Amino acid sequence: MKTYILACITAFVCILAPDIFTTFFVATEETPYRWYSHYESLVFLAIITASIVAARSLPLKLCLMSLILFFQLTQLVHFSYYGTFYSQYSIGYMFSEMGDFIAGTQALLVLIWPSLTVCLLSAALIFAVLIYHHKTAKQPLTNIPAYMLCILMMFPLIKSLYHYNDYKPSAKQLAIRCGLYSWSSYFSMGYKTKDTKEYAPYTLSSQQPMVDNLVLIIGESANYQRMSLFGADRDTTPYLKSLVHSEQFHHQLAFSSSVATQYSMGYFLNGVYEPDNAIQMGSKGANLFKIAEQNGYEMHFLSNHTIGAQSQIYRYGQFHTWIDKSMDASQQWQYDKGLVDAYLKERGAKRTKQFVVLHTYNMHTPYTDNYPEDFQVFPPEGDDASGLLKGNYDNSLKYFDHTIEYWVDRLTKELDGTTLIVYVPDHGEKFQGDAQVSHAQHHKGSNGDEHKHAHNHGDGGWHGHGFLDIDVATVPIFAISVNGANHALDAFKSQLGCISSHYKIHHALASVLGTDIINPNQQEDTFYISGLSYYGAAGWIEGHFPEHEFLCNIRQQQMRTTSAY
Ligand SMILES: [Zn+2]
Repeated sequence: MKTYILACITAFVCILAPDIFTTFFVATEETPYRWYSHYESLVFLAIITASIVAARSLPLKLCLMSLILFFQLTQLVHFSYYGTFYSQYSIGYMFSEMGDFIAGTQALLVLIWPSLTVCLLSAALIFAVLIYHHKTAKQPLTNIPAYMLCILMMFPLIKSLYHYNDYKPSAKQLAIRCGLYSWSSYFSMGYKTKDTKEYAPYTLSSQQPMVDNLVLIIGESANYQRMSLFGADRDTTPYLKSLVHSEQFHHQLAFSSSVATQYSMGYFLNGVYEPDNAIQMGSKGANLFKIAEQNGYEMHFLSNHTIGAQSQIYRYGQFHTWIDKSMDASQQWQYDKGLVDAYLKERGAKRTKQFVVLHTYNMHTPYTDNYPEDFQVFPPEGDDASGLLKGNYDNSLKYFDHTIEYWVDRLTKELDGTTLIVYVPDHGEKFQGDAQVSHAQHHKGSNGDEHKHAHNHGDGGWHGHGFLDIDVATVPIFAISVNGANHALDAFKSQLGCISSHYKIHHALASVLGTDIINPNQQEDTFYISGLSYYGAAGWIEGHFPEHEFLCNIRQQQMRTTSAY
């Protein structure tokens, strides 16, 4: 009995250790990581440990413990990277963009290794204790508690098969518990759905198209604070910066509709305003491709992403060109720059009435994979992990700037008639310590609570994208008029507001293409940023433009700085 109790205590302490360690390693301001204030979590953990240690079958023992430790390791690694535990929606997102997910995780090992190491060390120790105790145990062991534990662990799954499941993990709980609930909710997703909220339908009316050609460049993981176009010290975007005072150029900031590629693309290209308007999303009634087709444009879609990122965009129309990275067997391009060459190769004789969408991948993690070596010009910004990432991100921006210059040059020569080139990123990219909007503003979550986001070491947040955070949704946009499209540029920018949103940009693009959209549900001052779901199930942020007007000044300041030269 004494060895059993000793083994239980050792295992219990070892399981708890990574959670405690992460508390110190990842200090959060606004959502304190207080597993210890939830006594039921500790009781839950004690029951788990006692049942597993008592199991007579060694494989059963090791399998159960592996499952428990899998929940813990994955949640703590996610936590040390994003500052939150993953939900069922994050799991869905991970499976749908597996390639991006693996690449991103590898690149961010520099941030997650402490949690990962502690989890693996404690796991090794736990398995050693289990095996040692199993071999030396004198008292009879029994599988009954372990079987009961299996049944107990099925409860969250069974429950979510019977009730609509809106589970959101809390950082105040143990990682193991959140892992169990998130996976249970993931497996039951779609069995029980919430009643669809009904909104008044959008109406569309036709006007005269404003341009002969519209080129929409969809950006990836764009951080305006790293761009010299928006005042960064390093000259990461010299070409774009040189255009600042041109009549043919406009740049500003906007909020993206979501925080991960596929959801942002879905909301943006379908022009859906309300985060839970499943009917509008499903109907694709205001889809930009549909609008372009109705107005007589020839459609070309070229993407450096694989198909997973495009699941909610319209492709039922008559596309002249539809190529994405997974389909490009001939490998016409390695980096983004080749997208325009591929477009020019694929398109027919028609040089006008073109609607071209170029879906870029550059600036996605791992940054170094998405630009040629010649662009490795900026050193890391400091010795830490974040400084290394910033250095590589800056190189990635330099390549982006070069790509845009090349594209504008080629498209100017190869397209006939007035052409508007518009750049809109899918979402931003957050760097540790660079929080701006979330620091300055409180905002409302979908549950109606005012909240601010968790901050790493109090210095402003987490790295990357894919988590619901207003900084991740703050993006730079720009537009360039070519061959006399200034009237279209003026009309376009007059619809944006000094700080814009994907939704407003979508409307402005639709009217450039010749269709005005009226949404009776729209509130002029309000915008939404959706979590990792198309229908609002993963929550959203409700923001108000007037509270963010300080962002309007960033562009003004930069224009003043560059005119001082
Ligand atoms: Zn993206």
